[in-house]
Amino acid sequence: MVPEPVHQRIQEDWFNWQNSNIPVIEIGHRTDDFLALMEKTEQNLRHLLNIPANYNILFLQGGARGQFALVPMNLLGKNHQADYLVYGLWSEQACLEAQKYGDINRINILQSTDQLGITDQSEWSLNANAAYLHYCSNETISGMCLKNLPKSDSPLVADMSSDILSKPIDVSQFGLIYACFQKNLGIAGLTLIILRDNLLNQSIIETPSVFNYCNQCHEHSLYNTLPTFSYYVMSLIIEWMQQEGGITAIALRNQEKADMLYRIIDHYGDFYLNSIDPLYRSLMNVTFSLKNKNMERQFLLEAEQHGLLYLKGHPSFGGLRASIYNAMPIEGVAALATFMRIFAEKNTTSYF
Ligand code: PMP
Repeated sequence: MVPEPVHQRIQEDWFNWQNSNIPVIEIGHRTDDFLALMEKTEQNLRHLLNIPANYNILFLQGGARGQFALVPMNLLGKNHQADYLVYGLWSEQACLEAQKYGDINRINILQSTDQLGITDQSEWSLNANAAYLHYCSNETISGMCLKNLPKSDSPLVADMSSDILSKPIDVSQFGLIYACFQKNLGIAGLTLIILRDNLLNQSIIETPSVFNYCNQCHEHSLYNTLPTFSYYVMSLIIEWMQQEGGITAIALRNQEKADMLYRIIDHYGDFYLNSIDPLYRSLMNVTFSLKNKNMERQFLLEAEQHGLLYLKGHPSFGGLRASIYNAMPIEGVAALATFMRIFAEKNTTSYF
């Protein structure tokens, strides 16, 4: 979702951006006005996430999957070894892609007993010589997240595509963070990369110039044409977040939203099922299924009739999933929670 006030601003700017008489989708990426927008937005983002001065901010195309290749291409030039923690589809895909470019130590950390959890870090065999340790902070499909940072002497590289800006983080703990735009940063088209200075200059020779972090840092992400509309929407989202009270306020709201749904799932535990250990439950993607699988179609149908959309789980994981990113208002989650309560009570004979 995109927040309602951002929709309104887009409407206002559609034919006349900043009183320039230029439609917002026609802004040139090298115009003074757009460069000023980029400068202001970078400052806002630095302030919002508390990004230290020795970190570069980049905006590249190719989505987060693009970074699955570009992270190893840009970081494995001097030392071809890296650690990859795998506990879901996205961390696995990142690991498989990286294997094309270096000597990758795949560490399966998923614990699958009664519930899905994460193995203790003492069981992970990290490579002391790794150029970096890659992990995914939130597995969007299964609805699992790592709440504690992995401990490693190698720089941490995190795919934060589905939880960036959802809660405060200490950027100084990371070597590199990346996140596609189309969840908490607006709409598809760009990927945010936050990169510590000392990780520049270690790309492999074959890295395409357009995706070379050094090149793009030097050119302030304008080595090639930046998708201006996607960037512009992100700039409005950042302003909206500031108006909402910043990350701390948004994080409290996110916790409240997720709690609302997990409470219903657990309360109606004979009817709904969530297979994730509560320690690792995602605040952004609440996954669940119905004990009676045959009723899931009916659930989706009735939910849609109540204006509750996109609740089908990812095909690789099945079941149902409520993605409740920053822009989803509390009222939207409350409406789903009420629907889930009524649906469970209506369809469970023991409640009559
Ligand atoms: N990583 C994570 C955690 C994701 O959720 C996604 C997309 N859902 C991706 C990577 C892939 O992103 P993209 O489609 O932008 O390549």
